[in-house]
Amino acid sequence: MPPPPDRDEIARWVRERDPRRRSGLWEVADGVRQAQVGDEVHLRGLIEISNHCVRHCAYCGINAGHRALARYRLDPATVVVLAQDAREADCGTVVLQAGEDPWWTGERVADLIRRLKVEVGVAVTLSLGERPVEDLARWREAGADRYLLRFETGNQDLYRRVHPPQRDWGRDRRDQLADLRRLGYEVGSGFLVGLPGSTWDDLVDDILLCRELDLDMVGIGPYLPHPMTPLGRTVAPADPEQVPAADVPTTLTSMALLRLLLPTVNLPATTALGILDPVEGLEAGLRAGANIVMPDFTPDTERRLYSIYPGKEGAGPAGAERVASIRRRLIAIGRTVGTGAGTAPVWHRRREGAA
Ligand code: SAH
Repeated sequence: MPPPPDRDEIARWVRERDPRRRSGLWEVADGVRQAQVGDEVHLRGLIEISNHCVRHCAYCGINAGHRALARYRLDPATVVVLAQDAREADCGTVVLQAGEDPWWTGERVADLIRRLKVEVGVAVTLSLGERPVEDLARWREAGADRYLLRFETGNQDLYRRVHPPQRDWGRDRRDQLADLRRLGYEVGSGFLVGLPGSTWDDLVDDILLCRELDLDMVGIGPYLPHPMTPLGRTVAPADPEQVPAADVPTTLTSMALLRLLLPTVNLPATTALGILDPVEGLEAGLRAGANIVMPDFTPDTERRLYSIYPGKEGAGPAGAERVASIRRRLIAIGRTVGTGAGTAPVWHRRREGAA
């Protein structure tokens, strides 16, 4: 296996502009992926259970300030049916994602997790934003397996500017990631590539932070400007020190570097990548280190309203039809659909180490 790149090498790679050298790095990461986690691609059925949100994240299209957006919430019975569809389409995991929506109380989410475990029999990943530790503990007890909470950017000044804290909260995402680890979740986090105001050095820090946090799953994607957000409304002049928005090659290079730093991590080819390049984004991600895909099972009407970034309307079919197309595409590049829950090997190793 190639030695993991050090800070200087990472700093050089993210700035690399030569397409041949860049794709050479992606290929090396693809080799490490194959040797460490094999050819199986695990499918996670994404269910966006609510676009209500009380937060004001400056990058996100469902932020509370976007008053013109119609808001929806899926009811628990519908979520169970969608999870069944996902299970039948070979998704060993469902991911419940939402804005920070107080309607989904600790108890309601716990009830839903129990139903998914008993009635559907899938691994459950939660991506419900910042929540009190009591909720996290309760959901783990109810059977939740994983939690996905991106730190978005490791640059603390920038983070505070784009992610105004909740009043009287006193905790940040890093505290929550530590709680999740302690509670025995598989922990996923990650960042936005090209968040306005982030520099190439910030990107290097973000990549290294994923290793420092010893994550089980790393989800990163290109930042896509949304016109109904504070950040998306203003177009910043191009600055060579800053990582551009919507940059596919830089996202692929970051994924490849993450695969080299964390060889057995679960690494998705994220939806945002597929939106920027509907024809080849999925394949490109899977050939630059990724081993996970998250097909969306949210019904069409609601999926359009879960507009964290623009372009969800054009994202093609959802559900079983989407899985059929993903299956064809990944078989065409020599990969197979994973079976079982697709737990990251690194998580098992950590548990055995702790035992
Ligand atoms: N409320 C949850 C889920 C948010 S959506 C939470 O905050 O964790 C999941 C991810 O979408 C976010 O973590 C963010 O990284 C990403 N996202 C939000 N706005 C985006 C944008 N404009 N472009 C690309 N990704 C975005």
